[in-house]
Amino acid sequence: MKFTLLGTGTSTGVPSIGCECETCTSDDARDKRLRVSVLVEHDGQTVLVDTSSDFRQQALRCGLKRLDAVLITHCHADHIFGLDDIRPLNFRHGALGVYANDRAWLDIRRIFQYIFEPSHFGGGLPQVLAHTVEPGAQFCLSPLLRVTPIEVIHGRLPVMAYRFNDFAYLTDLSEIPAASVEMLRGLDVLVLDCLRIRPHPTHLWLERALEYVEELRPRRTFFTHIAHDIKHARDSALLPDGVEFAYDGLEINDE
Ligand SMILES: [Zn+2]
Ligand SMILES: [Zn+2]
Ligand SMILES: [Zn+2]
Repeated sequence: MKFTLLGTGTSTGVPSIGCECETCTSDDARDKRLRVSVLVEHDGQTVLVDTSSDFRQQALRCGLKRLDAVLITHCHADHIFGLDDIRPLNFRHGALGVYANDRAWLDIRRIFQYIFEPSHFGGGLPQVLAHTVEPGAQFCLSPLLRVTPIEVIHGRLPVMAYRFNDFAYLTDLSEIPAASVEMLRGLDVLVLDCLRIRPHPTHLWLERALEYVEELRPRRTFFTHIAHDIKHARDSALLPDGVEFAYDGLEINDE
């Protein structure tokens, strides 16, 4: 199993437009964060979680050649606005399976109405095979790649997190319901939302994120969806052993 963090930034990206703070002006490549998404590679499958608003740039940067599936967490702009950019992959390889929950499908069909109700458009539309996921309803993308959709709460919005065998990806959440905690036991790798040091109403912040790490006890944890409040080198000292801030391009492998 390999996770490649294609983006690790909050919804504005880092640097934030017009900002001259210590992080936004940093020379450290780890302080330059595109909008969040992760590429999962295992058992011959290449799976993307979220078509971020930076998807095109991320796909070019990592040399992406094909995708076997796209999984959507929720439909905030930073997670979905790159959906149109799957088209070059469709041209080469055909329609692509996209997995999302009922609520996200309502939003996807509204935001990208032209995909689902083409009228006077010519060709060149994204080709999407819609699959609906439900919390706890596992499915296999290949014999050795089992996916568990897990519901987490993002402010008031229930959103999807995904477990891939013993790796899990949980972005954009402020709370993990008790039933979902039970689906996150025995993890090798946890990638978890940690927006900043100070509290926030719809995201985990450092103290809350570390409480979940303590509760779930994954072998390794990487924080993502990071705002400019966090400067990688300066703030990594705040983290206990086994916990790191992720950065764009980071590859996490089975050990
Ligand atoms: Zn987000
Ligand atoms: Zn800044
Ligand atoms: Zn969000």
